[in-house]
Amino acid sequence: MTIVYLCLGSNTGDRLKLIEQAVSLLNLAQDIKLIRTSALYETEPWGVKDQNWFLNMIAEIKTPLSAQDLLIKCQNIERTLGRNREKETRWGERPIDIDIIFYGKEIINTQFLTIPHKHMHERAFVLVPLLELVPDFVHPVSNKTVSELYDDLEDVEDVYLYGTRVK
Ligand code: ATP
Ligand code: CA
Ligand code: CA
Repeated sequence: MTIVYLCLGSNTGDRLKLIEQAVSLLNLAQDIKLIRTSALYETEPWGVKDQNWFLNMIAEIKTPLSAQDLLIKCQNIERTLGRNREKETRWGERPIDIDIIFYGKEIINTQFLTIPHKHMHERAFVLVPLLELVPDFVHPVSNKTVSELYDDLEDVEDVYLYGTRVK
């Protein structure tokens, strides 16, 4: 069994419902046990700015699946919830995105997987909810804790607890 941190994101359609559906599909999946989730955050788009804001959350799960098989399960859930990569641009709009942030302490670099996620240390929308759950978790490549990574962030996009952003 491995403890895994997933980052869920949505910026089109009924974002709240899509995140909730993704969490319940994860929990229903054979071989995935949902342990806990962070709060929900509303976040400024990262990378491609001119699009709708996202809702993001981190889910802590436990699984006997390999990282590769877990990725396939996550991608199946994304498809079930209407994601179609062929119609997308890089870092653009999507109904649901599920990224593997940490897979235990493992370091994986294959054509299909980079774990820890290669941009996680640059993204406030990942680090803020992660900070809530595991501030002392050590990134196995940089050897910095989540809270050190957060302190090191340079460009910090806006991250609001869901419901507290004033438009
Ligand atoms: P980013 O990975 O920068 O957040 P994205 O989520 O928009 O971008 P996707 O189109 O969802 O990118 O995924 C592209 C590919 O990234 C996937 O097909 C998958 O093989 C690969 N990938 C590599 N590392 C990971 C990871 N840690 N979690 C999820 N997908 C990953
Ligand atoms: Ca992503
Ligand atoms: Ca993704």
